[in-house]
Amino acid sequence: MSNVDLLGRRKFIAGLGVAAGAAMVAPAMAVSEKADGVKWDKEVEVVIIGSGFAGLAAAIEATKLGAKDVHIFEKMSYFGGNSAINGGLFAAPGTPMQKKENVDDSVERMVNDQLASGRGIADEGLLRHVASHALEALQMTLDAGSEYHPYLQQLGGHSVARTYQTTVSCGAGITQPLYKECKRIGVNTHNRSKFEGFLVGKDGKVVGVKMRTNYHFNEDQPGEVLNIRAKKGVIMATGGFGQNVDLRMAQDPTLTAEVGCTNAPGATGEGMFEMFRLGAIPVHLAHIQSGPWASPDEGGFGYVSNYSIYNFPHSMAVNRLTGKRFMNEIADRKTRADAELSCRNEKGEALPPILITSYKDSKKHPNTKKVIKYNVGWKFDTIEELAKHFDVPLKPLKAQIEEYNSYVKSGEDKQFGKNMTKAKDKYIEAPFTVVRLWPKVHYCQGGVQVNVKAEVKDSFTGKSIPGLYAAGEVCGGIHGVSRLGSCSIPECMVMGMTAARSIMKA
Ligand SMILES: Cc1cc2nc3c(=O)[nH]c(=O)nc-3n(C[C@H](O)[C@H](O)[C@H](O)COP(=O)(O)OP(=O)(O)OC[C@H]3O[C@@H](n4cnc5c(N)ncnc54)[C@H](O)[C@@H]3O)c2cc1C
Repeated sequence: MSNVDLLGRRKFIAGLGVAAGAAMVAPAMAVSEKADGVKWDKEVEVVIIGSGFAGLAAAIEATKLGAKDVHIFEKMSYFGGNSAINGGLFAAPGTPMQKKENVDDSVERMVNDQLASGRGIADEGLLRHVASHALEALQMTLDAGSEYHPYLQQLGGHSVARTYQTTVSCGAGITQPLYKECKRIGVNTHNRSKFEGFLVGKDGKVVGVKMRTNYHFNEDQPGEVLNIRAKKGVIMATGGFGQNVDLRMAQDPTLTAEVGCTNAPGATGEGMFEMFRLGAIPVHLAHIQSGPWASPDEGGFGYVSNYSIYNFPHSMAVNRLTGKRFMNEIADRKTRADAELSCRNEKGEALPPILITSYKDSKKHPNTKKVIKYNVGWKFDTIEELAKHFDVPLKPLKAQIEEYNSYVKSGEDKQFGKNMTKAKDKYIEAPFTVVRLWPKVHYCQGGVQVNVKAEVKDSFTGKSIPGLYAAGEVCGGIHGVSRLGSCSIPECMVMGMTAARSIMKA
């Protein structure tokens, strides 16, 4: 396995020939307009822009609360955004599965775990609001027909096991049932419909939207723009901007087009920027999260990400230069991503670390067969073969495995303080499964500022912008420096439901 030449990570990924982030798109920026004298092409009750977790949950909740004419507009040809390709991992406190597995959890405990990961700048009020309603959101998915594995996972930075995962190991296990539920209850859905700007009434109230029809992503646009009046208001659920290379590089110049990205191509952020143009407050835009479970050997989220998320608690991450561990394998994402990026050879070039798992424990995850089949993970019968393949010094590696196994036995990790609960009886022993790790752009902690009613605050007036609500990854500030895994689904769904409750009260 050759090392690659890198001081910054951009060259490294290019050197590996990994597909660049799919989109180099600069979103067409429309300017919102005054609605005076506008000719309305259509009048509806509730407008929702975006068809991920936030938009779908908002549509279902608004309909439950009596709305008769709810419309979801989605710019892509398909529905679901990042939500449909996500890992299907859903955290909630006080669930039936936690009761079954005797896990002692609470809203406060989940909030405290997230505050720690947020490093002092997360929004405690929003975190508590989401954690308090996460069970309702989980129930909405169950009512719609989502199915989950019959066991909980403990993800990095969570102090207890509180994460459900869909049986299809993918967010489509949630978006498809929610979408079907939307159709069943009469929600109107429009694909290839791109939001291009707001229409604003005399008092600054958002009264409608400009929507381009027959939109073809990244192509010449033949479709006409319709003025759609939203009688009750507009819910923006347009997701993050991970695929907008210009926007992310404006925050962090190292996040070039060559850096891998797990996001769907439509995650380009123009909905967020149009809200800024209206006066919304930008929060934490520079906090762009990289996923520490990603592999440099495949594009996007691939097969390795969910494989390693499942296996980290009972695996050992090893620096190939030293043959030793270099991090707590279930620390929060930022801690691990930073630790991985510091794995370098003597010349300072990137040297992706390896995650070593006993084959017998790894094979319980459905992706294990796939990572081996597609050559993005490898099985070794002996430690000697493993060390030779990855050019790891054998003696320190053997000593490290012995030391780590003593922590499995005692339940106390003296090297990095890892919580060993889920590692119980899972010794690192042959045969082994191994994957390489390197962080990829994954999630935008930044976005527009919202309150616990999903209202968008106006930086000029200090008040909420009337008629406008936002939910999901388009919002910023809730998670602070680093979001914990499996906490976006509850956030998007709870805030989508919250936006619907607010709009139906207004
Ligand atoms: C690969 C991957 C795995 C993940 N795994 C997990 C996980 O297991 N658990 C977890 O909690 N989180 C996970 N996340 C994070 C989580 O999936 C996202 O934060 C979440 O899906 C965002 O949902 P959303 O509804 O805000 O936006 P999205 O699901 O991204 O939906 C936004 C939609 O708006 C559309 N849109 C954007 N602009 C416009 C416009 N101008 N006009 C019309 N439509 C527009 C987009 O095309 C998109 O379909 C993962 C993310 C990725 C990328």
